[in-house]
Amino acid sequence: MAEHESLEFGKADFVLLDNVSLEEFMANLKLRFEKGRIYTYIGEVVVSVNPYRAMNIYGRDTIEQYKGRELYERPPHLFAIADAAYKAMKRRNKDTCIVISGESGAGKTEASKYIMQYIAAITNPGQRAEVERVKNMLLKSNCVLEAFGNAKTNRNDNSSRFGKYMDINFDFKGDPIGGHINNYLLEKSRVIFQQEGERSFHSFYQVTNTFQLFYSSISLLSLSLSQSSIDDGGDFKAVADAMKVIGFTADELQTVYKVLATILHLGNLTFGVDGDTTLIENSKVVAVIGDLLATKEENVEKALLYRTVATGRDVIDKQHTAQEASYGRDALAKAMYERMFCWIVGRINDVIEVKNYDAKVHGKNTVIGVLDIYGFEIFQNNSFEQFCINYCNEKLQQLFIQLVLRQEQEEYQREGIPWKHIDFFNNQIIVDLVELQHKGIFSVLDEACMNVGKVTDKVFLQGLNSKLANHAHYTSRKVHKSLEFDRDFRVRHYAGNVVYSVVGFIDKNKDTLFQDFKRLLYNSSNPVLKVMWPEGKLKITEVTKRPLTAATLFKNSMIALVENLACKEPYYVRCIKPNDVKSPLLFEHERCRHQVEYLGLLENVRVRRAGFANRQEYPRFLQRYKMISEFTWPNHDLPSEKEAVKKLLQGCGFEQDVAYGKTKVFIRTPRTLFCLEEQRTEMV
Ligand code: ADP
Ligand code: MG
Repeated sequence: MAEHESLEFGKADFVLLDNVSLEEFMANLKLRFEKGRIYTYIGEVVVSVNPYRAMNIYGRDTIEQYKGRELYERPPHLFAIADAAYKAMKRRNKDTCIVISGESGAGKTEASKYIMQYIAAITNPGQRAEVERVKNMLLKSNCVLEAFGNAKTNRNDNSSRFGKYMDINFDFKGDPIGGHINNYLLEKSRVIFQQEGERSFHSFYQVTNTFQLFYSSISLLSLSLSQSSIDDGGDFKAVADAMKVIGFTADELQTVYKVLATILHLGNLTFGVDGDTTLIENSKVVAVIGDLLATKEENVEKALLYRTVATGRDVIDKQHTAQEASYGRDALAKAMYERMFCWIVGRINDVIEVKNYDAKVHGKNTVIGVLDIYGFEIFQNNSFEQFCINYCNEKLQQLFIQLVLRQEQEEYQREGIPWKHIDFFNNQIIVDLVELQHKGIFSVLDEACMNVGKVTDKVFLQGLNSKLANHAHYTSRKVHKSLEFDRDFRVRHYAGNVVYSVVGFIDKNKDTLFQDFKRLLYNSSNPVLKVMWPEGKLKITEVTKRPLTAATLFKNSMIALVENLACKEPYYVRCIKPNDVKSPLLFEHERCRHQVEYLGLLENVRVRRAGFANRQEYPRFLQRYKMISEFTWPNHDLPSEKEAVKKLLQGCGFEQDVAYGKTKVFIRTPRTLFCLEEQRTEMV
């Protein structure tokens, strides 16, 4: 729609398509990708296709072009959306959020970083030191979180293995004064296991590369994969610097390295049996771990081999089998990593939280939230993690449906304009299938975990099959021959069918870490480590409450997230991955079509077109187009700006294509706006 974008690059807004069909949509998307136009609008939604090459469109000069402009004045860009969210917040004192979605490798994290950079660049013209400090912290936090929360996967060399929602708080001047990060479900199983061709979290390679001599005695079997596209040594320094800037103390940094080293050493521990006794085969490792954790070697050994249980009034030490001991070791490694990750997020939050802001004096501080969360995943083998991730995407899709529709409907109502309803596939039914109390998959899973008798994945699957056999989006072996009888179930997600293997669901949901380990870590003489494990304080006889399951915790966090987003004004970035080989040239049609379909982009265009393609507040409209009408140029003598706009549009013959709301003029077809723009260009 912007005057300087010629049709050679396709339509800058899908709303402008001559016919809204999947073919035309795809043709436009492809053409724009090939012409290096990676962003396209659907109204105020940005559709982005990962270019897989460096684009020269994020520099200072580009930022200047977008600053303070309206969406349609410039070619589609993330910056325009960031600016729109910022303006809405500043002008109308509203909390806004930017929701970035798309599958792994589609470009979500990069987009979130460009958005943050843009916001940092356009704020604080007065160069206030405190604001500069906050901005620096917010930007630096990305680098730290990526080191600990990202990993190379087969889909993405820098794949975020956690969900992230970040609030940026602004003062009444519109300058950032703080922020808060929420993290969701870190994929901690990666600490002990990686698929072929994948790596563990970056942080492990950063320390091992840097401390090579120090740790040369350990065989880092699980970390042997070298990766040329990643500079672990260089990143180590950048991360350490960022952590120092954020305010991590030398002791805290040392503790982080020690936790990483401990986990690596745990990976080398093996258990054996001698008669009735379970023993550690390489006991030297235990001494090293004792050292790293600032605790006695025998405490480490005892926690690894025994479990304290309360039987009635007695407390006894029960020896693990070798298998139980291995399980405990893995659980410890995962838990230590996850706990440290959450602690790091907490420490960053301590530093960036809003301080010294008096809302009574300065008015409410407003927020822009940026959500960068894992996209829909279908792997060869899908487990509990994929199930949670895909449930998260169902929730976000539901929110998208509600907000996009609701926003439109509310705006028409508010402005007093009639509106016709458009149908969407409503995925609420799938959300319910997962989360409904007593009936949903999570409930069945929690029930299975609570069984006193035999608790196995199989029992869980039987529970599912008996409760959900008739659900339209659930399929059991009875119905589908390809599923394995005692292992799989299938869910028809909005984005496609996914077969889940129940193997590990029970364990991952219970997420048990023996209390003995918690006590071990709490009793460390390293105060930083101790702080990470407050519940280790409890004596065995005091531990009574059953901890919430992983599924319940995740469900609760998703419900809270959606509630939080729902009360903000949303802006959307929909990321598309053009191919699976990270190529800047390849637009795989089928691959892209599937994403366009499940993201509901076509429906999005239809909703947008059924209503009005464009709407603008009267003063803004008048300012932009007053030169094309004799009634309004250079000034008008009409009683209101609304009347002036009416007169202007009547004069141009567009009366049939517009509607007048209370504060805004609504333009139905984009062509009208296009004509207005052309006339304007002729005049100026
Ligand atoms: P996601 O977070 O959706 O999994 P990322 O944002 O990590 O995906 O992007 C994956 C990779 O794709 C990046 O590491 C980068 O190489 C490339 N990429 C993504 N967005 C862009 C962009 N705007 N410009 C250039 N390369 C990009
Ligand atoms: Mg990411």
